[in-house]
Amino acid sequence: MRTIPITQQGLHVMTKPIGPICNLDCEYCYYLHKEDLYGERKSWRMSEETLDSYIRQYIDAQPDDVPEVTFAWQGGEPTLLGTEFFQRAVEIQKEHAGSRKIINTIQTNGVLLNEEWCEFLKANDFLVGISIDGPAELHDRYRYDKQGLPTFQKVLDGLKLLKKYEVEFNVLVVVNRHNGDHAKRVYTYLRDTGVDFMQFIPIVEKRGVGVHAELPLASDQLRTFAYDDRVSSRSVGPDQYGRFLIEVFDEWLRRDVGKVFVQQFEEALTAWMGYESGICIFRKQCGRALAMEHNGDVYSCDHFVEPEYKLGNIYELPIVEMACSDQQVKFGTDKETTLPKYCQQCEVRFICNGECPKNRFIETPDGEAGLNYLCESYKAFFNHIDPVMKRMAETVKGGGLAAHVMHQINDERRGRQIQEQGSVSQTPSRNDPCPCGSGKKFKRCCSRR
Ligand code: SF4
Ligand code: SF4
Repeated sequence: MRTIPITQQGLHVMTKPIGPICNLDCEYCYYLHKEDLYGERKSWRMSEETLDSYIRQYIDAQPDDVPEVTFAWQGGEPTLLGTEFFQRAVEIQKEHAGSRKIINTIQTNGVLLNEEWCEFLKANDFLVGISIDGPAELHDRYRYDKQGLPTFQKVLDGLKLLKKYEVEFNVLVVVNRHNGDHAKRVYTYLRDTGVDFMQFIPIVEKRGVGVHAELPLASDQLRTFAYDDRVSSRSVGPDQYGRFLIEVFDEWLRRDVGKVFVQQFEEALTAWMGYESGICIFRKQCGRALAMEHNGDVYSCDHFVEPEYKLGNIYELPIVEMACSDQQVKFGTDKETTLPKYCQQCEVRFICNGECPKNRFIETPDGEAGLNYLCESYKAFFNHIDPVMKRMAETVKGGGLAAHVMHQINDERRGRQIQEQGSVSQTPSRNDPCPCGSGKKFKRCCSRR
């Protein structure tokens, strides 16, 4: 599975070639207010000189044994720069790549994707991350343009074009207070639209930390949610994210294992197989995924683009020196050394590792600071998937496929149903719907196994 990586294999930099400038005004965006960091500017466009210097330094900064270099273009909205900017980036990459393979990933809201863009993305083998929060009524709650108009249809048109041009893409869903109670609807909508790769990112906006103005809660939210004054009203509830992941997992396990790839489930399987996750939030330590602004300023992480986390500028210091600086090493090791005792003794620490430090602002039951706001969600989710993950890990280690476990579980479920019905004569006929609930005919499903 190819996903937009925030990994520790080698050094990663998430680049903002147009700073925080965006054509949308998504209510929960954590990056739009970064305009304040740089004040009024004539242009936010990364200059060719900066682009060239960055590409050269970034390739040079990779350890010798890393054969691939992944460039992650983010924003703001990077497509505002037009294809010509990225065409030039690809040319410069070729000049400096040597024997290394270059991979480009771009995260977009999808609104500007057109035929020209898709031709370019396909021709240059870009991996696209496109943000959709579910069907229109869920997506349009927080994701609108500068005029306050909904964006769903444009995003869907962009996604369809990506498919038409066979551009590799994955969908990033921001799980928030509004769509957080509609997991199955979000997941099945995307699956049935032809999305094979998904990631579900929780939105947690701690109050007072660069949080956008909030619109009044919708009346259904007022009814449904206890108000949590630690976070914005848009933020996913501390247990809601876990319920969301569990509902998606159960649906995925029913029929989609091996066909649909959900980043959180892939990472979980990695951990249950005894390896450390590839994404920073689930690793013991982090700090190898830096963020670079349009002018070459480098920060500890995309979520910490703040003056106190600035490591320098590529015109003053090579990226590799910034990545290896005491400040950055401490940033990364703090993730592990500041873990509360409660986490250290937790049964799912091996996969959770306290998640991202940006979300660690609540207290443990015994009053220790630094527990993750989403702890309740992660405990519930990882414990829920534990029995299945153990079976999948064993199967995959033995050379089998995770999908075999899905079939076994469906067979077991069917066996139980037949037992409960008290007679084998209740076995469905060939053209009946399969009792495992897959929606297929029995003859095309469990009867084959
Ligand atoms: S602070 Fe969070 S997002 Fe940033 S590198 Fe660490 S774990 Fe990843
Ligand atoms: S589930 Fe909670 S207690 Fe366990 S490691 Fe994660 S944040 Fe810590």
